[in-house]
Amino acid sequence: MSSPSLVWLRDDLRVADNPALRAAIDRDEPLVVLYVLDEESDGIRPLGGAARWWLHHSLASLRDHIADLGAQLILRRGPARDVVRGVVDDIGASAVFWNRRYGGPERELDAHLKSSLREDGIEVASFAGSLLHEPWTVKTGSGTHFSVFTPFWRAARALPAPRAPLPAPRSLDGVSRPPASDDLDDWQLLPTSPDWAGGLRDTWEPGEQAARARLRTFLREDLGSYDRARDEPSAGATSQLSPRLRWGELSPFTVWHEAVETEGAAGFLSELGWREFAWHTLFHFPDLATKNLRSEFDAFPWPRLRPSHLRAWERGETGIPLVDAGMRELWRTGYMHNRVRMVTASFLIKNLMIDWRRGEEWFWDTLVDADGANNPFNWQWVAGSGADAAPYFRIFNPELQAKKFDQQGLYVSEWASDAPSDPIVDLGETRKAALAAYDELRRSSRSS
Ligand code: FAD
Repeated sequence: MSSPSLVWLRDDLRVADNPALRAAIDRDEPLVVLYVLDEESDGIRPLGGAARWWLHHSLASLRDHIADLGAQLILRRGPARDVVRGVVDDIGASAVFWNRRYGGPERELDAHLKSSLREDGIEVASFAGSLLHEPWTVKTGSGTHFSVFTPFWRAARALPAPRAPLPAPRSLDGVSRPPASDDLDDWQLLPTSPDWAGGLRDTWEPGEQAARARLRTFLREDLGSYDRARDEPSAGATSQLSPRLRWGELSPFTVWHEAVETEGAAGFLSELGWREFAWHTLFHFPDLATKNLRSEFDAFPWPRLRPSHLRAWERGETGIPLVDAGMRELWRTGYMHNRVRMVTASFLIKNLMIDWRRGEEWFWDTLVDADGANNPFNWQWVAGSGADAAPYFRIFNPELQAKKFDQQGLYVSEWASDAPSDPIVDLGETRKAALAAYDELRRSSRSS
């Protein structure tokens, strides 16, 4: 009698360099590949709209790919602990494999499930598939975690090099009678009324094969100009791999090993380092999306929210061209260039004096790469409350940023040629008010 293996996919929607899938293949028993849409378990953050769109298409592509290889991707919805348990019982699985997750509630759920399955005599193993270094392996001399990027990255680089990627399977031995699967369309991950995803469709092709093609093109055509042009939003010089890494269509090991062979890759590789740093920070500080990492910022004197200002920012109607261009690129494509993410975030927090968490939530809902660590980490970086953050008093001037990084106005004219021209706030006045608020915070934290 066969004793099937269950591979539970999460943020690793790929077959290449997938250690959990490889472990199941190596057992030489038929297998079932499962994805669970879990919107119910405690603490799991529900996906935003753009992320749901990506997930739908990435799953559709993976489902076809796995079917071509000889198995079936089973889709189920519900609290993951119950669902995985149910499928294990259904197929009589004797082994369960997954790649690790690093968010607090996810780790708790996985640990619980692992021990309860083991109690029943089922083999369970988890693997490193989403980060180059496990968060507990990059440590200071005194054994604590890093709060500054440069020494973090130096320590990470001093560790043994990231392992080589595992080859993609040529075929999969699926169980002969797979368990029932939901129909992907029934999950209604795509927007219908209205269908706002036209710009996403025009911009992206989710899925593992497209991700690999994008990586190859980037390395061949753009990596050479990356260091020089990565800050120019109209240059198209960055990899646009963020949603591929977010959804695990590509593993960081694959990206690392292909890039490291290419001359002049150090700058690009250190951006992968920032991704690691953000995830390691989340591992040690699971409330990153809701709580200031530096608790002195809890006393920040945020003024009462002006909903009209928040709305103008979300819609790209602030009258500040670079901000409006960024917010419109985001709305249309589900993506925004990194330099412009910094400028729009700084404008929200410091010129509109709106709590960073409101901006983080909007990005969470609108980015196709909305990432449980990178998003809150970077918002806190801009706010000054995060790890190795930009000091609060360093306030981006969106006009100077545009002069420097969009010299010919190509980016602004692509995205915001018809945006309003009257600024909703005065940049100089609001800058002064932000600095005064920061002084107040410092005074109050000194006196407490
Ligand atoms: P490249 O320049 O080609 O970089 C390669 C990869 O390195 C990226 O794909 C990404 O995985 C990683 N990376 C690059 N910059 C950063 C960074 N600052 N922090 C962490 N990882 C980085 N990135 C996300 O993936 N998801 C998010 O939700 C997200 N939210 C952000 C919010 C704000 C306010 C800011 C300022 C930045 C945010 N970033 C986020 C980081 C960064 O803007 C994007 O990763 C980058 O723009 C993606 O484009 P790319 O793939 O072409 O990057």
